[in-house]
Amino acid sequence: MKPRPSVVRSVRCPGCGAGCIYAVENPYRPFCSARCKNHDFGAWASERFSVAAETDADAGIDSTVPGTDDGALAPVRPDQRDNQ
Ligand SMILES: [Zn+2]
Repeated sequence: MKPRPSVVRSVRCPGCGAGCIYAVENPYRPFCSARCKNHDFGAWASERFSVAAETDADAGIDSTVPGTDDGALAPVRPDQRDNQ
């Protein structure tokens, strides 16, 4: 029988690039520490937040600009307004 290779894997921390253990002993995997994990999450969250904000602004413009309001106003022509 071959000896089983160690289940402990070493990976590079996405936060700081340092080597860290990818195993259950490391609750912050694949990061090396809580600091790196929190930093990465913060960056991701703020980026997502700004993207969401841009999408919101676009959606707001889209919902007011397209023809719904114009369609409601269009039938009222100056001559009809004179009659009323
Ligand atoms: Zn790190």
